[in-house]
Amino acid sequence: MVNEIQVKSVLNKHKRRDDWFLDDYSVNPYESCSFNCIYCYIRGSKYGENMAKTLSAKINAPEILRKQLKRRSKKEEHGIIALSTSTEPYMEIEETLKLTRRLLEVILRYKFPVHILTKSTLVLRDLDLLNEIDKNAILPKDLRGKLNRGVIISFSISTLDEKLAKILERRAPKPIERLETMQKCKEEGFLTGICFIPVLPYLSDSEEQLDEMIKTARDYGADFVLVGALTLFGNKPADCKTLYYKFLEKCYPEIVPKYKSLFRIFFQPSKEYQKELEEKSKRLCEKYGIKNSIV
Ligand code: SF4
Repeated sequence: MVNEIQVKSVLNKHKRRDDWFLDDYSVNPYESCSFNCIYCYIRGSKYGENMAKTLSAKINAPEILRKQLKRRSKKEEHGIIALSTSTEPYMEIEETLKLTRRLLEVILRYKFPVHILTKSTLVLRDLDLLNEIDKNAILPKDLRGKLNRGVIISFSISTLDEKLAKILERRAPKPIERLETMQKCKEEGFLTGICFIPVLPYLSDSEEQLDEMIKTARDYGADFVLVGALTLFGNKPADCKTLYYKFLEKCYPEIVPKYKSLFRIFFQPSKEYQKELEEKSKRLCEKYGIKNSIV
């Protein structure tokens, strides 16, 4: 039985639009996430080592969103809503609770565009609603003529290696299932792509691996590919940095020193690493004729 909570607000307005995902707002129907990926940045001391245990459903979220979007819509403040940024909108519990689905009904009613960010196959259940949103959403003025779509669907993949994914994202659908789901979304006419975020230093970031990842995304019909580096936060027992290093020490002890050097100062890899990753992915996207941004 999932913990049910009441919230006062569910629509987060960003100070400025996200350059990558294009969202002006975000909505998270759940707190925590039962997929429990080891590298997940949301965990930390708040949600603990097993995030399935701390999962909560914002049970009044549709009603609260209705009020919040009604106000925004009256003021013509339409903007892209990311669903979701700090949980998975389509984990197992969603099959029965249908909280994400009810939020999409509200989003459709007030004609807001939406960017679905998921690792799940369950998104296919809601393609009927997403199709209506795609046709009816009102885009922010500055995106009209550039985007011309009310729905973006992105699937996140950190590695195509099934064994590695099984360790790091044990409860999420396999990478191949995400690719097949994306392909179905594409066949239904949606704007869809892959976020290779986070790629894993020394595990899924070589030229050959990125080449295969971007080629595979193209072969499955992705309209775009976004590539982003791993972030590692915190030093407490349930923080992602601690858990990720535990995983490395157990499975890949030989690369621990390389990680320590790469992450020696900040929670992100060095600037040089990030620049190199960006250049590599840009080059490979050009090679395979695929966009490395949504617009
Ligand atoms: S699916 Fe996303 S939100 Fe959920 S645990 Fe994995 S990275 Fe975190």
